[in-house]
Amino acid sequence: MRHLTDSQSYGVLFHRERRDELKDALIEHVAALGGNQIDTITRTHIQKTVEMLVDGPQPEYFIDYAQDEHIYPLYCEGCISAPCCSGPITLLFEDIQKLTKVLGISRKKCLKDHVKRGHDEFGLPSYELKNTYPCEFLDKDARCTIYDNRPWACQMYPVRLGQGGPVLFVNDYCNFVFNLFKYECYARVFEEDFKIRFPHQHARMVELQMRYLS
Ligand code: SF4
Ligand code: SF4
Repeated sequence: MRHLTDSQSYGVLFHRERRDELKDALIEHVAALGGNQIDTITRTHIQKTVEMLVDGPQPEYFIDYAQDEHIYPLYCEGCISAPCCSGPITLLFEDIQKLTKVLGISRKKCLKDHVKRGHDEFGLPSYELKNTYPCEFLDKDARCTIYDNRPWACQMYPVRLGQGGPVLFVNDYCNFVFNLFKYECYARVFEEDFKIRFPHQHARMVELQMRYLS
């Protein structure tokens, strides 16, 4: 399991341009609920904040952030049991094509052994991976054995398509979204505190960060 300290998240996130909107939303939300104690953020806070952001004017901004290849490994805890790889996995037509190729089998066999027909949330016919409790492509070290050819739904997690467009999963078992908000908030609080208590060091850090970015 991967755990971040405040200083790690601060160091990584300090220069990230897109962090402020996320943190402001959660801080505002927590404050609106009557508390500004960052260490008491709960999943309900996160859920509400995500709903607020996703319903907001720029949901794609948040989705984009969650899918950032640098952000993802920072917040995914790499759970040893990979619970995110247990559950329905929708397949696109291209996913079935890729699966057929990577497994080196016929389309007919692929459909028979690895694909099941279902219905999506709109009631339309859809395809899903057949054996996903846990997924048959997960090895004993909780690694995906078809990672480079994994289905689109797996590539997008924790984002999925909802009725109004892309939405974020806030699953009970998954700490990805929870960590994203929690540590962004910690970073913000730490930064403000640091700025007040150590103004010279803060200014120096900003200067170094700017140099690093340029
Ligand atoms: S295909 Fe790979 S990433 Fe997708 S659920 Fe299975 S093991 Fe996980
Ligand atoms: S459940 Fe969430 S935190 Fe755990 S490995 Fe999956 S994406 Fe990462």
